[in-house]
Amino acid sequence: MKIKVAKFGGTSLADAIQIAKVKKIIMADPARRYIVPSAPGKSAIYDVKVTDLLYGLENAIEKGDDYLPFYRQIYSRFIDIKQQLGLETNIESELEKILRDLLNGEGVDYAASRGEYLNGMLIADYLGYTFIDAAEVILFDKRGKYDEKATERVLSDRLSHLEHAVIPGFYGSMPNGSIKTFSRGGSDVTGAIVSAAVRADLYENWTDVSGFYMADPRIVKHAKKVESVTYRELRELSYMGAAVLHEDSIFPVYKYAIPINVRNTNEPETPGTMIIPTIENYDGPPVTGIAGKKNFTIISIEKNGMNSELGFGRKVLACIEKYGIPFEHMPSSIDTLCVVLEDAKVKDNINDIVDDIHRTCEPDSVEIVRNLALIATVGKRMRESIGTAAALFTALAKANINIRMIDQGSSEMNIIVGVKNEDFERTMNAIHDAFAL
Ligand code: ASP
Repeated sequence: MKIKVAKFGGTSLADAIQIAKVKKIIMADPARRYIVPSAPGKSAIYDVKVTDLLYGLENAIEKGDDYLPFYRQIYSRFIDIKQQLGLETNIESELEKILRDLLNGEGVDYAASRGEYLNGMLIADYLGYTFIDAAEVILFDKRGKYDEKATERVLSDRLSHLEHAVIPGFYGSMPNGSIKTFSRGGSDVTGAIVSAAVRADLYENWTDVSGFYMADPRIVKHAKKVESVTYRELRELSYMGAAVLHEDSIFPVYKYAIPINVRNTNEPETPGTMIIPTIENYDGPPVTGIAGKKNFTIISIEKNGMNSELGFGRKVLACIEKYGIPFEHMPSSIDTLCVVLEDAKVKDNINDIVDDIHRTCEPDSVEIVRNLALIATVGKRMRESIGTAAALFTALAKANINIRMIDQGSSEMNIIVGVKNEDFERTMNAIHDAFAL
């Protein structure tokens, strides 16, 4: 029998009505054996995520502020779910214990993780599945780094004895037993880890959108839905700002080539988007997605004979590294080299950096362009299809958009253009419309 791991996000589990929908989805397919829940998120009734309330509670306790408003809200969210679903779990005593632990000095990760922990208990009760505390099976090392080997061993063994289980997302534990969370949105990562541990046939990621769009629908209103995207394409797109899954959720499933299916809890009949290892025999359009971000700085350095000067690039990068700034891209030509940096990381250091470059690299000129937006057009098939770049640049020329920088990533599956911040939205729309066939 096939095995599916189903992870449900916060909006999918925000209240009893949503959880009832989720039960229907799970029961509709016997392959959905391992369930990874988030904490209750926002819904029509609630405008705040339980995780945020838990961070607030811990913060108030730590500062000596009045913490009761946070505690009461958290309490009532879980009691409402319990009562409306007619459950037996003694969630009241769990909640009281959490408050006691926090008053006794338990830290912020412990606090934040309790939303998943409590929701997991209630959902396990409602489904009639075994509840596994993630602290027992998702393991971090003593420096707080996720311990892949130890986790796979313990988790695979534990789940091999269970037909069904609920494993709360977002957290695990360190060797000393203390709770450690992944970064925000980390239940996606837990879902991927559980999928790898049971060698799932499919990792279903249930959320509140019907999959992945060719461009952010908040920017491109009529953005086209993407049927499938490869792991690598998704990574390139996430890096450039596309938010679908937590970035780290690809690594655990990558190893075993487990596909991920992003689906909508509120529209379970739509197939969503498949995130797959590779595309074979694919004859669709060359571009899969477009993503971008504003606020970059380009340092453009010109020097005659740069190409034959040994160590030039290294010297330039050393000037930037000195200020603790990582570089994003580095397109170059025979006598010029551009370094693209994030504005937020450059802060006020730009003049000092330029001075350093003048001093150590003796260039002919250094030009700075600030307030740039970068837009990546990503597609695995781009490498083999003729005319993609031409179509892209024609679309931008037609929209009267001036391109300040072009970089074709060495993976040959993306073309990055830099435009003025104020042209960002128009650029996204123009590229989308050129390729959304
Ligand atoms: N509840 C956590 C958060 O809000 C983790 C998650 O939902 O994935 O970030």
